[in-house]
Amino acid sequence: MSQNIESKVVVITGASSGIGESTARHLASLGAKVVLGARRTEKLERITQEIRDGGGQAEFLTTDVTVASDLKALVEKAIATFGQVDVIINNAGLMAIAPMSETKTDEWDRMIDINIKGFLYGIAAALPIFEKQGSGHFVNISSVAGVKVFSPGGTVYSGTKFAVRAISEGLRHEVSGKIRTTTIEPGAVDSELKHGSSHQDSSDFVKDFYQIAIPSDSVARAIAYAIEQPADVDINEIVLRPTVQD
Ligand code: NDP
Repeated sequence: MSQNIESKVVVITGASSGIGESTARHLASLGAKVVLGARRTEKLERITQEIRDGGGQAEFLTTDVTVASDLKALVEKAIATFGQVDVIINNAGLMAIAPMSETKTDEWDRMIDINIKGFLYGIAAALPIFEKQGSGHFVNISSVAGVKVFSPGGTVYSGTKFAVRAISEGLRHEVSGKIRTTTIEPGAVDSELKHGSSHQDSSDFVKDFYQIAIPSDSVARAIAYAIEQPADVDINEIVLRPTVQD
């Protein structure tokens, strides 16, 4: 158990795999009450049950982050189940890598919808609650690709992750005082994310590059570190990557 995590109610998007799943399991093991959102209901059901079987407290709601009302419902589910929301982790994401010349506009749209609009809808759902409570914590998952443009191939993905970082920083300025904002910028992490590309050469590149990937637990621990700080300490940004990653 961790004193500043125990009993906190933490909403996590993209909690059906990878970083979101690891974070839900890790925070629950430290005593948080976790509320999982994603589209794959069966995966959420299984992870939630396993957390409960291990003595943790968890709830889930099938959530598509591209639908603003789904995020509102997820936050409302957390309040109905556990009485409040202390942290929202805006984590759901898609990485569809391809050179710009492929003009994969459908994939650009999907990345913008999930990575930017989905993240904004998470803010819109939680901010009124945080303001009413007089406390809260946004943990927003950007990327090393939100610090340095990951090209060729990752230009649009990087654009979405730069947007997450920029909006998080603006949000921090607007709400600082009682509400904390943390941006997490991971490097290569082993998860399903690497399968998001429909462009064969880019997919092969990602598969090769991700041989150095670190486990998603590494990011879960970084998130826990930000949450467990006392209320007067806001960890603004954490960049973490495999030691061997440039
Ligand atoms: P995964 O692909 O394993 O996880 C992505 C999660 O997002 C899944 O749970 C998926 O669930 C969810 N998701 C995707 N689309 C939607 C949607 N429309 N509505 C709700 N949930 C959705 O990858 P990661 O765990 O690696 O990715 C998590 C975050 O970390 C992403 O934002 C990613 O960009 C970021 N990141 C990852 C890095 C890496 O190397 N893996 C590095 C840097 C950042 P479902 O399909 O069930 O909806």
